[in-house]
Amino acid sequence: MSDKEDLWKEVPSHAFISLARRGMEKVSLDQCFLKNCDNEDGNLLEPIKKEEEETEKKIVKKIHIKCKKCGGTFILKLETIKNVAKPTSSEEYGEDTLSMGLVYALDDKGNNIGHIGYF
Ligand SMILES: [Zn+2]
Repeated sequence: MSDKEDLWKEVPSHAFISLARRGMEKVSLDQCFLKNCDNEDGNLLEPIKKEEEETEKKIVKKIHIKCKKCGGTFILKLETIKNVAKPTSSEEYGEDTLSMGLVYALDDKGNNIGHIGYF
């Protein structure tokens, strides 16, 4: 089952949610994002396939994950935006501001369940 293990490597273990003035909260992505499901056990989640597309501005990966607790499937959409920052001076912005990632959860029909955060 090495294919599935490889799929897990595509999933960041955590995302960060911005809490306005209270900084960032770290959330685990090893959980089921479907409504009415409280599964937070990564062992009950099985990545089944990955779709990836890259454009000039961003890389989008969709990891389809099956939840063995509720029996549903959801999609983690990982969007990496290229060249987010437009530095006016290289001293002001570090190299690592040049790209950022956004995580969304979608249901199995591709409907957006919610913006999870950043990775
Ligand atoms: Zn579930």
